[in-house]
Amino acid sequence: MSDTRLTLVTRAADFAARAHVAQHRKGLAEEPYVNHLTEVATLLAEATGGEDAALIAAAYLHDTLEDTATAYEDLVTHFGPDVAKLVGEVTDNKSLPKAERKRLQVDTVTRKSSRAQLLKIADKTSNVRALVSSPPAGWSKTRLMDYIEWAEAVVSQVRGRNPILDAEFITARDNARREISAKIDEETT
Ligand code: ZN
Repeated sequence: MSDTRLTLVTRAADFAARAHVAQHRKGLAEEPYVNHLTEVATLLAEATGGEDAALIAAAYLHDTLEDTATAYEDLVTHFGPDVAKLVGEVTDNKSLPKAERKRLQVDTVTRKSSRAQLLKIADKTSNVRALVSSPPAGWSKTRLMDYIEWAEAVVSQVRGRNPILDAEFITARDNARREISAKIDEETT
């Protein structure tokens, strides 16, 4: 990785950490939000051999438009149009109701660029892992299972681009299904 590419990634990590500074993940462990971003960036870097610095930068920044005051133009100014466009591709339209946004993710994922699809798989992998490592407070088992099935509905359409990422998601999905099913068994006996 050249100095310029390493600098792009480092600056993206710094920008994202500052933008999300006051946020925590919704799980019981209340992890700093940046832990999700570093996980997604690391999944992508490992799965792609660190070859695509803009993709790793976009991984750090992927929730800035949706969850912080960052504007698209800010990303263009700081990181260039390639990174900004990637982040834009994985950003939901927050003016729509949640159910509609979730349906749109399923309906539109195949029309996104292949890099945005990889980013989606890594994001869903991190989120599904978190259902087990730090389940959101107050989520019923049905809600947890529904989330896994929705993530599967998105990811299943874009498999085949990167075997490492595909395998990471499948491991996370199967582990989450097993752990959550076990919880149900515990409570019904
Ligand atoms: Zn995310």
